[in-house]
Amino acid sequence: EMKVAGRGGWRRYTAAMSERAATLRNIERSLRDALAHDTLALHYQPMVDARNGCIVGAEALLRWQVDGHDVFVPDQFIPVAEDSGLIAELGEWVLRQACMQSRQWRQRQRAIPISVNVSPLQFRHERFYPQLDALMDAYDIGPGQLELELTERTMMAGGDATARLLQRIRQRGVRLSLDDFGTGYCSLSYLKHFPVDTLKIDRSFVHDVVVDADTAAITRAIVAMARSLGKTVVAEGVETAAQADFLHEAGCTLLQGFRYGAPMPAAELERWLAASAA
Ligand code: C2E
Ligand code: MG
Ligand code: MG
Ligand code: MG
Repeated sequence: EMKVAGRGGWRRYTAAMSERAATLRNIERSLRDALAHDTLALHYQPMVDARNGCIVGAEALLRWQVDGHDVFVPDQFIPVAEDSGLIAELGEWVLRQACMQSRQWRQRQRAIPISVNVSPLQFRHERFYPQLDALMDAYDIGPGQLELELTERTMMAGGDATARLLQRIRQRGVRLSLDDFGTGYCSLSYLKHFPVDTLKIDRSFVHDVVVDADTAAITRAIVAMARSLGKTVVAEGVETAAQADFLHEAGCTLLQGFRYGAPMPAAELERWLAASAA
């Protein structure tokens, strides 16, 4: 109700606004509670080698189970965490869980590199690098075991300070991945400015490669360009054999999507690994 026509209209407008504010405060309160009582969980989705389907990494994806409700997915609460300033705490929780999991898998002779999503505000927070550095020490995370997924939006904001921070993170042995590639404003020529190891092709492209010739051509060009710049290319949201075949042929080396496995609890991923090894 954006039309402010007369007193009645205004009243409806403000009522909707304060209702929304109240909802946000409720989510924020529940989220604080969830952080305190550990009702959040990380699920892990396998990333596989396009040639043989072997697992080469896992992306950590946040889940929130509220009593008596469906599981909430991040798009429903990450924006609230960003608005309320909870994102630094939430982000640290996620990083800690991922580092703990990494150490546990290493201790069981299963060193699976883990990729963690970082939101724009979390990345810009002054505590971000110190937290990352401390967690890597605390859980003995070595080079290449942890990867951060950032979007173009995060990488393009903040100018030189962002560029320096990205370099620092890489020098610390953390890989960087450009998430959702193709959905932002980023032109291909920008790629050379981003100090990233990996480029993740957004699932909207992956969905269309087998139905739309233009998307197929663009995707081929993106993969070729990324590879010639020495970057690893991951396709996300791979659901069908036709998509997988296309991407593999285009030169995409890593695939991720429901075709291989949905995000799942760590224990389930371990069973998945055991089954796929057999
Ligand atoms: P993303 O990083 O691009 O993650 C990929 C999303 O695609 C995930 O949604 C995943 O469940 C979904 N997906 C994977 N394979 C398929 C497929 O084959 N088909 C379809 N249709 N979807 C697939 P999810 O888990 O709901 O996460 C959504 C977004 O929330 C993520 O997008 C990421 O940007 C953000 N996010 C997730 N976990 C975290 C977190 O711990 N911290 C932060 N800051 N953001 C997170
Ligand atoms: Mg991601
Ligand atoms: Mg993505
Ligand atoms: Mg996304």
